Amino acid sequence: MRYSRYLLATLKETPADAEIASHQLMLRAGMIRKVAAGIYNYLPFGLRAIRKVEQIVREEMERAGALELLMPMVVPSELWQESGRWEQYGRELLRLQDRKETGFCLGPTHEEVVTDVVRNTVRSYRQLPLNLYQIQTKFRDEIRPRFGLMRGREFIMKDAYSFDLDEAGADVAYEKMFQAYRRIFERCGLKFRAVEADTGNIGGSSSHEFMVLAESGEDAIVSCDRCAYAANVEKAELLPGSIKPAEPAEELRQVATPGRRTVEEVTGFLGIAPQQLVKTLILQTDTGEIAAVLLRGDRELNEIKLCRLLGCAEVTLADEEVVRRKTGAPSGFAGPVGLNLRLLADYEVAGMADFVTGANVEDSHYLGVNLQRDVLVETFADLRVAGAGDPCPRCDGRLESWRGIEVGHVFKLGTKYSEALGATVLDDQGRERILFMGCYGIGIGRTVASAIEQNHDENGIVFPLPIAPFQVLITVVNPKEEDVMRAAEVLYGELQALGVEVLLDDRDERPGSKFKDADLLGIPLRLTVGSRGLKEQAVELQKRSNGDRSLLPLAEAASQLAGIVRQALS
Ligand code: ATP
Ligand code: MG
Repeated sequence: MRYSRYLLATLKETPADAEIASHQLMLRAGMIRKVAAGIYNYLPFGLRAIRKVEQIVREEMERAGALELLMPMVVPSELWQESGRWEQYGRELLRLQDRKETGFCLGPTHEEVVTDVVRNTVRSYRQLPLNLYQIQTKFRDEIRPRFGLMRGREFIMKDAYSFDLDEAGADVAYEKMFQAYRRIFERCGLKFRAVEADTGNIGGSSSHEFMVLAESGEDAIVSCDRCAYAANVEKAELLPGSIKPAEPAEELRQVATPGRRTVEEVTGFLGIAPQQLVKTLILQTDTGEIAAVLLRGDRELNEIKLCRLLGCAEVTLADEEVVRRKTGAPSGFAGPVGLNLRLLADYEVAGMADFVTGANVEDSHYLGVNLQRDVLVETFADLRVAGAGDPCPRCDGRLESWRGIEVGHVFKLGTKYSEALGATVLDDQGRERILFMGCYGIGIGRTVASAIEQNHDENGIVFPLPIAPFQVLITVVNPKEEDVMRAAEVLYGELQALGVEVLLDDRDERPGSKFKDADLLGIPLRLTVGSRGLKEQAVELQKRSNGDRSLLPLAEAASQLAGIVRQALS
């Protein structure tokens, strides 16, 4: 490809609305352009990287025995009604109607559609195991689309679905996908880790997320400093351990805390540590229940754990009117003493004594609160967000915390969808059996963005070669010099003949600005063709990754580069 004929819309300035490096660089290198919030054009240079990742994903899916198909993006509501998700899925699902007012949605994920395919085409256990995958555009009406392709509303996903006769078969399919994912992300040049994950609204029994390590990641992860345990904090369990109820030493007494509502304000005013306060959260579920949850003052509620305990899909803090009605005080003064609400507490609270809580009276708190004497907790449970320093749930190590970007997710689904949609086969005894399923997603655009997030410097992108839009960039120092241009053209032709993907910078621009663009675009191997080198019958090779320079004899440059490319891909 000739730069002079290519559409490379590079930007000198960092776009103001791009917060993280990958988003800034993808805009600056002319890979993507925004059309609307979370909706992007993939420009030619960006699309090449997307296609590279897709190709790696395809190769590894095929290696694992999965078969490619393509399902529609527009999905009839009927199918989603069969699984029950038409009602459950919430507002990320973009619903629409056709001219006959029939309901449809834009597919955010395809469990229903693929289960429909299988129930209509697979009859016998002999056709199993089966794993079907597609690479397709998904739509999710995310509340906060951001960071470019990291969290789009329209985005490309690889989604695979496995079908097996029994659970043991499904476990084998899961393991195969797990290994395929490892290979995919390794080939994409990513530093990643597989962690235990929550199954969310997809459902199922067990799941792992593949997390790319990055400071800018939206996910918080904990891992043990001793054993292999690693989990998303959404999921990370904390065991009750050997918490013993402490003996009360203080009398219960009410004190004035005028206008002090937050943990910080109250503990600051009383001159105590947040660990001596128990906060009382009044919460409302989507099923209409109102409950109170007790947590140590410095802890954070894990809403996913609470939802699992209460069997609801969503909890929110109760609004002011509800808080006043249930506690008799404005928010900021709620407490468990004498509170007439379902009362749940985090395990940790069980080990506390003589603590501070709200008094259910405006501008007032209790000191010396004790569980056995003053409060009736219905259930103690694991309700808080795990963090650094917490005990590992598997061994006696401690948890460390870090941040990550979820690029892939594998789930064991069990029979949730096959049962709801009636996907069965006949086994070798002629009996009808419900299929066991798994589902496996990879965000293609998010993978490209993550690779850039992990591989860049202050001057631009540093593409890992397997996903680089081009493998080699030839910079012609002065295209007006005939012998220079001729030598560059010969090299260009030779490299192409050897199957190398080359961008030839034949523009009539200052060398300095060409080198700046070269840094920004991040093409891994750079050849500089100029009159000085040609006098020695040589061209200069520079690696974008480490800046190393070396001279190659002109006659051998193409074959040597092809060798380097081949090696990097093997
Ligand atoms: P997240 O928690 O980040 O919203 P998810 O758990 O909803 O992700 P899955 O339903 O497991 O994601 O989707 C499979 C993969 O699709 C994810 O691992 C991720 O790589 C990608 N993905 C999901 N949502 C988006 C999005 N809004 N933009 C880009 N990629 C996405
Ligand atoms: Mg999501």
